[in-house]
Amino acid sequence: MYKQQVTSTFFHCLRCSYEWHPKSLGKEPKVCANPKCHSPYWKEPRREVALDEHLEIRVGAREKQVFVNAAELAGISLSSWVRERLRQVAIKEREDAEQLLRDRFKVSEEDEEAGDGG
Ligand SMILES: [Zn+2]
Repeated sequence: MYKQQVTSTFFHCLRCSYEWHPKSLGKEPKVCANPKCHSPYWKEPRREVALDEHLEIRVGAREKQVFVNAAELAGISLSSWVRERLRQVAIKEREDAEQLLRDRFKVSEEDEEAGDGG
C-alpha cells in the first residue's frame, strides 16, 4: 500500500486546552500533562459561574507581586488564583471547626469509630 492513514490518540484538557499524547493507551491520565495546569479536572469542562460579585482586599505592592508571580506559575489568572486559594482555606477552616465541634461534643468514645482523631 503506497498510502497509509495514521491515527493517533491524544488527550485534550478542558481546563487549559493543552493537548498531549499519552504514554500508554491503557489508562487515562489522572491529571493534565501541562505542568502549569496539572488539573485533576481536565476531563470536566469549567462550569460557568456568574462572577459578578466583587471582593476588595488591600495588599502591599510586594505582596501583590508575590501573588502575581504565584498565579503566573500556576498558569491561571490572579483572580482565579486568589479565589481558589481562599476557597481552599475556607473549606479547610470549616472542616477543622467541624472536627473541633465533634471532639467537644463527643458523647462517648463508643459512639465514635475507633481511631485517634488527631
Ligand atoms: Zn490542563
